[in-house]
Amino acid sequence: MGSKLTRRDFFRRSSAAGALAAAEAIAANGSTHPPGWAGTRRTEAIATNCEMCFWRCGVLAEVEDGKVVRLSGNPAHPLTAGRLCAKGCAGTALLYDPDRLKYPMMRTGARGEGKFKRITWEEALDFFAARLNELKAKYGPESVAFFPHGVASSWFVTLMKAFGTPNAAEPAFAQCRGPREVGYALTFGQGLGSPEPVDLAESKLIVLIGTHIGENVFTSQVTAFAEGLDRGAKLIVVDPRFSTSASKADWWLPIRPGTDIALLLAWMNVLISEDLYDKDYIGRYAEGFAELVSHVKEFTPEWAEPITEIPTERIRATARAMGQAKPAVALHPGRHATWYGDDTQRSRAMAILTALLGSWGRKGGIFLPTPLKTGKFSLPPFPESKRGRVDGAGTRYPLASEEQGVTNGLVDATVSGNPYPIKAWVVYGQNVLESIPRRENTLAAINQLEFLAVVDILPMEQVNYADLVLPEATYLERYDVPHVAESAKKPFIALRQPVVDPLYETKPGWWIAREMARRLGLEAYFPWASPEEHLNKLLEPLHVNVNELQATGALAFEGRPYIEDRLPEDGALFATENGKIQLYSKVLKQLGFEPVPRYVPVEDPPLGYFRLIYGRAPVHSFGRTQNNAILDGLMPENEAWISMQAAKVLGVADGQRVVLENQDGVKGLPIKLRITAGIRSDCLYMVHGFGNQSRALRRAYRKGASDADLMTRVKIDPIMGGTGMRVNFVRVLTDLDGQGG
Ligand code: SF4
Repeated sequence: MGSKLTRRDFFRRSSAAGALAAAEAIAANGSTHPPGWAGTRRTEAIATNCEMCFWRCGVLAEVEDGKVVRLSGNPAHPLTAGRLCAKGCAGTALLYDPDRLKYPMMRTGARGEGKFKRITWEEALDFFAARLNELKAKYGPESVAFFPHGVASSWFVTLMKAFGTPNAAEPAFAQCRGPREVGYALTFGQGLGSPEPVDLAESKLIVLIGTHIGENVFTSQVTAFAEGLDRGAKLIVVDPRFSTSASKADWWLPIRPGTDIALLLAWMNVLISEDLYDKDYIGRYAEGFAELVSHVKEFTPEWAEPITEIPTERIRATARAMGQAKPAVALHPGRHATWYGDDTQRSRAMAILTALLGSWGRKGGIFLPTPLKTGKFSLPPFPESKRGRVDGAGTRYPLASEEQGVTNGLVDATVSGNPYPIKAWVVYGQNVLESIPRRENTLAAINQLEFLAVVDILPMEQVNYADLVLPEATYLERYDVPHVAESAKKPFIALRQPVVDPLYETKPGWWIAREMARRLGLEAYFPWASPEEHLNKLLEPLHVNVNELQATGALAFEGRPYIEDRLPEDGALFATENGKIQLYSKVLKQLGFEPVPRYVPVEDPPLGYFRLIYGRAPVHSFGRTQNNAILDGLMPENEAWISMQAAKVLGVADGQRVVLENQDGVKGLPIKLRITAGIRSDCLYMVHGFGNQSRALRRAYRKGASDADLMTRVKIDPIMGGTGMRVNFVRVLTDLDGQGG
């Protein structure tokens, strides 16, 4: 086959052996370009992975005459197997979005005014290095804080560590998955990672608590969910709203918000009192069972009914269904877990319930990651700061991840100047005004900075406040650190590679970080000449080379997902202090927290107000896709869901435009009402990510309303510093005069 092999032929092959042989054939042609190039032009489908959300599905980009004409799923990708969601298919509209940041810019107007002058990359990088060196000399390297987001930020993580600042924090922890990772790690010795290792396809019973699969569409997860249901899995959905998942459920439990821990305790009570838990598993792997038994004794379904507003019999019936289906119960740990400030404890309760069902490491439950050994360049040690970090990770918030940090802690410290002044922020790939609640606080922090640099693709709101704007190439124009996915049933490595050259004057993140490093005298931390060389090093221990991976886009390895598959080199089954599942947490006890979760009531909405709840839509990701021409066509704005009873009392009609005002008198942009039987009367629901205030995003500007605008208060999780955000209340105003942000 040799030289006659085309890429289309190649992707028709399904076996790994065929793929490898094909890759070798391409490699043997001696081309230095990835496969799919004809001379200096790419003409066929190139494998890469998606970044329209964080799931990183395998993509085939069809390129004609240097233009991406179509994105489709890569059938060779082991996890996503040829499927893309609507967002993934719409990636071309991001690539060709006329509102993209196109060249480096320096601020000329006041912060927030959005006035800039175009500068060259030389000027931009020199300016960046000069400002950072100046601040370092004056205040120390710790005075520069870093806000990364997503995998692509890893080059900048290296840069900022090398610069000498410990002050870095990403919203993925304190505004999203942090409590879950901490709660499960306290129980099982490890968190869950991403993608979540939930064995939905093999499950006999799926339990979703506030997780709305179908509205949050991550292709392999939604596929596995559908497969599980097709095979006859039962479904319990706990949600104040009749979500898409709830519409498929055998039991929909419209819980009173903030009472999930009470429900979880009552479920444990039934499993234990009716002898329905997995005795063998608990006896073999867990400790603290006696303490758990005595703790949950009083938390009967009868106790939980008035708290949760779920009838006793339904609590009992669902607990029994779990007991019968064990261990093949997929209790989904959720993803965005920062709700009420007791979130680590709620995640602990979910983890303990998972343990009682014997589901961790079992088919149909939560499967185990399989470690993949990758290669690394040896770098000089990162400088250690004597002053420590300012965000409270490891101190004020004892179990916060020091790797991921506490964003809100970093913002608060910038405002207060305690324990020492923060004078500059470097923000990569996120809109801190939307991702971190309490916008006024974030703006107060920004307004006292001496320097703000933003690396982004689109002119998000925060760009208007930046001193220096660095336009990054999109995921279709750049290499990123590959996706090393250990938390998949078959672990895999997947590549993101450029399918076209960067448009305008945009540059890939790896190039920007490395050029910055050169100017700061930190080039020793970037000891590779090209991303291909970096990739080769990483792949060395896996015995694959770059050409193989470039051809297929992804390569899978044998997995050991269940307890019985484990090998000694996989490490301890439960990486807790003594190798046992911790039903009773001595760590929490020592730190002064409840060792077993306890229900603590949360504040109810005042009369006339709704609890603000929020979530995802299948065709948008956070606030990053609203300017996308295709996705805007599918869903141009969000709606505020309220119940029919509430609408009757308020005298409002479906589709009517209203303004929401929160408990602190803050008003959002006008939003359309959706009146439905599918939500509790004490809640108002909206999709996150709309109501953008950046004029430069011409399509998204002021469409729909932003839930983040209405989050002026948070409840901090004392264990890990996360911001519980479902503690805001809104009322509906029908008089739009003078409203609208
Ligand atoms: S779920 Fe959709 S947007 Fe997310 S990575 Fe996959 S295809 Fe892209």
